[in-house]
Amino acid sequence: MKKNKEKIALIIGNIIIYLALIFLLYLDKKNKENIYLNDKINQLKSEFLITKRTYDKASELFYNTRIKNSSVIKYCGDFSKRSAILNTFYDDYRFLRKIGFDRFIFTLPDGTVYLRMHNFDRYGDKISEIAEIANYENNYLSIDKNLLDSLVYLYPIFLNNKRVCDVYLNVPFYKISDDLANTFNKSYLFIIKKDFLNLKENKGYIQSDLSPDYFVESKFYNQILKTKNNDSFSLSEINKKAKKEIDKKLREEVSFSYPIDINGNTILMTFMLIKSFNNISIGYLISYEADTTFKVFSKSFYIMISSLLFIMIIINIFIINIIKLKNVAEKKAITDKLTGLFNRSIIDTLIQVEIERAKRNNKPISILLFDIDHFKKINDTYGHDKGDYALKTIAEIARRTLRKSDYVLRWGGEEFLAILPETDLDGATKVAEKIRSNIENYNFKDIGRVTVSIGVTMLKIGEPLDNAIKRADEALYAAKNKGRNRVEVSYY
Ligand code: GH3
Ligand code: MG
Ligand code: MG
Repeated sequence: MKKNKEKIALIIGNIIIYLALIFLLYLDKKNKENIYLNDKINQLKSEFLITKRTYDKASELFYNTRIKNSSVIKYCGDFSKRSAILNTFYDDYRFLRKIGFDRFIFTLPDGTVYLRMHNFDRYGDKISEIAEIANYENNYLSIDKNLLDSLVYLYPIFLNNKRVCDVYLNVPFYKISDDLANTFNKSYLFIIKKDFLNLKENKGYIQSDLSPDYFVESKFYNQILKTKNNDSFSLSEINKKAKKEIDKKLREEVSFSYPIDINGNTILMTFMLIKSFNNISIGYLISYEADTTFKVFSKSFYIMISSLLFIMIIINIFIINIIKLKNVAEKKAITDKLTGLFNRSIIDTLIQVEIERAKRNNKPISILLFDIDHFKKINDTYGHDKGDYALKTIAEIARRTLRKSDYVLRWGGEEFLAILPETDLDGATKVAEKIRSNIENYNFKDIGRVTVSIGVTMLKIGEPLDNAIKRADEALYAAKNKGRNRVEVSYY
């Protein structure tokens, strides 16, 4: 019972330690995953900025070399000179289109369109009414309600310190996605918040399959759905699978990276938030990439916890075996090998417990000391083995005759001590008599009759056990003297 408790406590203790370790490992795994995912966000930002830089440089070069010092630019704002300006810059416009720019427009400082290079006849409307220009770290991204969503460059033109015109160049998002995909070998997509699109006029947009609140440029989206990329996963399949979680995350309006499992492969979707000048979120740039690192965190976590479990089990088996060995050794130390009874070494512990109990319950304790009669003769006549057999049998008879709450100890060679808790002298004498007669009436194989003499006494309150044993021994001596095979009582 006690041993089982020890084992259960040990196992529960170990399970608690194990769970605590799992928890720590789990935190570590989460931490590593978060660091990794954050790195992915920064990576996407860098990719975007690197790609954008080409256009930053190209537009700057174009402005500085072609516009700023052009002889016709001083006419900008003069509506009668629109043709002259168109003619001067028309080849530039065609070249700009070739390298990815989409629109080249002159506006008045109040946003009124002065000249659309691609549509000479449409002017005089206000570009600020149709375009919401956003800022990505000092550059402009526009969500143009008439045009495509795009990266915008605005260069003010000054004449005699007076701003006469602005040059408006833009690169559509799909062009940037395309460049990103070609440079970094991943798939990229811009999604734009519904509020920023004039959906009546923008037939070119379709609802994103990630969220009903976001839209994508449909021609481009369909095109990238068709082009199998290197990682050969389907964007629409990923989007559909991730939709529920992503839709929730998009509402938080922060950049994030999200791993998704497709047929056992991890695809990382990284979302970079795009904000307007006035800090309003207008959409996200998304990158999709097949990832092999993210899984490693989980894998190493499971390897760690299973190895840990294995080690814990081994340690537990080891400790349980030590406990078992210790228990066996302890039991061995207090047990007599021949009879299986307790030996003398346990007496102090045992009697202390019983005395305490007797005090509490105000009950007497009696003791019997018994000794086999003429045992030497049995040994001499039938041999030592038969002597041992007689000892074992007598121990067994005594044990059977006594109650479960009584104790019998092998006190010495062929002497036994019985402790009878909650038993007075009268009761103890009756028990002693029973033992004596049970032994006398037992037919010992080959030996026949074997008898014992018994001394009985009661432990006085506060009396050391040795005293009582001495009295019992005197009673036993008396029994021997009076002819053996009898019970003698020592009153005090
Ligand atoms: P008495 O009636 O006066 O007790 O006579 P006795 O022969 O029993 O006297 P004594 O106590 O002197 O003898 C004890 C003998 O018990 C001596 C010893 O050889 C024998 N003995 C003690 N332990 C063992 C044992 O483990 N096995 C066997 N076979 N004999 C033992
Ligand atoms: Mg003896
Ligand atoms: Mg004897």
